[in-house]
Amino acid sequence: MENKAYQVLLYYKYVPIEEPELFAQTHLAACKELGLLGRILVSHEGINGTVSGTLDQTQAYIDMMKDDERFSDMSFKIDAAEGHAFKKMHVRAKKEVVHLGLGDDDINPNELTGQYLSPTEFYEKMQQDDTIVIDARNDYEFDLGHFRGAVRPEIKNFRDLPQWMRENKEQFEGKKILTYCTGGIRCEKFSGWLVKEGYEDVGQLHGGIATYGKDPEVRGQLWDGQMYVFDERIAVPINQVEHVIVGKDYFTGEPCERYVNCANPECNDKILCSEENEHLYMRSCSDECRTHPSNRYIVEHQLTEEQVSTKLQEIDRLRQNA
Ligand SMILES: [Zn+2]
Repeated sequence: MENKAYQVLLYYKYVPIEEPELFAQTHLAACKELGLLGRILVSHEGINGTVSGTLDQTQAYIDMMKDDERFSDMSFKIDAAEGHAFKKMHVRAKKEVVHLGLGDDDINPNELTGQYLSPTEFYEKMQQDDTIVIDARNDYEFDLGHFRGAVRPEIKNFRDLPQWMRENKEQFEGKKILTYCTGGIRCEKFSGWLVKEGYEDVGQLHGGIATYGKDPEVRGQLWDGQMYVFDERIAVPINQVEHVIVGKDYFTGEPCERYVNCANPECNDKILCSEENEHLYMRSCSDECRTHPSNRYIVEHQLTEEQVSTKLQEIDRLRQNA
């Protein structure tokens, strides 16, 4: 076992929570008292959280949740870590714990959801004929890593998935559909929605990629790249047997698994790029972002106008040679 003093917990449960605002306040106080850091969403439909802390702190949190009958059977995905994975502790009350934009067609996964598949079942079914695996995450998550052969919906955000599915229906009709996401929470709704849309054979990866990567039988096989996580680690390994890099440097197309955010605060898009290209391209996704008056890269590195224009000329030269 790794000798790491901290843990990151990932967990969710769809369960009615009355007065989510009040719950959020009390829960935040309890988390702070325990010394945890992280991000937790609560709503009338449930809880979705990820927190970090020492072994004792995280265990105390698990015990606290198990004592509450609403969460007594909630499962926790646990990663060892060298330190906290967050800078702050937030608990927020929201309308939904995941935003799939279904409005009046919203799904309660306790009433309607796809078939739960264990990592082994998912691994086997994904290799069968007539099976389509759909990634139920955002595009930047897919680009860092995904199941081999999975469909990458052409969407920026998870909430656009239902509409994209309807527009691309022919592709999926009569097929067996498998869905997966990070911890399983998004698929609970998405797979339920697929069943409601009339798809007959819909399976979801129970516990998500996070569980799949730890399963002693499948050992993350058929996963390429790394898994995007919403904490300071950003990328975590899944496939314990082989590591195939699928991420591509935004500027050169070379293999890359390093995410930065565009230095234009109004853009903030995630860009995969090497450290070298970060500096050359001023951590910006476009000329427009590069020359934006509040570009954070220019501020951080205290670049003079002359230094900026030298970099812009270099980028132009590379472009012309390409
Ligand atoms: Zn940008």
